[in-house]
Amino acid sequence: MSTASQAHDYEKLLREAGVRITRPRRTILRILSEGGDHPDALEIFRRASAIDPSISLSTVYRTMRLLEDKGAIHRHAFANGPSRFEQADSDHHDHLIDMDTGAVIEFRSDRIEALQDEIARELGYEIVFHRLELYGRKRRG
Ligand SMILES: [Zn+2]
Repeated sequence: MSTASQAHDYEKLLREAGVRITRPRRTILRILSEGGDHPDALEIFRRASAIDPSISLSTVYRTMRLLEDKGAIHRHAFANGPSRFEQADSDHHDHLIDMDTGAVIEFRSDRIEALQDEIARELGYEIVFHRLELYGRKRRG
């Protein structure tokens, strides 16, 4: 999640990367910077058309593809569901997916980060990036 001024800086970065900020792109970027809940394309379309009724679902799909190609957003292919998206400028974190509600919970563990580095180093690698997804159910009682 980020503030309006961070969203503005983000647009500036994209423009510098040669991405023309059209109205639908701005609308979608705003939704992703304000949402923080990793919406899927249909949900992004629902929110976008509430802001700008002229946006079509195909515009949303096309824009998501372009923003992904430019490295502006991350696509998550979480198990058993459509791709979900988030802004790429958020700090590194991993995800826990609630299998009952589909909620995506962000977390970061310095211990896990350090352990991954250690494992990669032992195997003769340095990590360029990683994705870690935990799937779980809320414990009862
Ligand atoms: Zn996330």
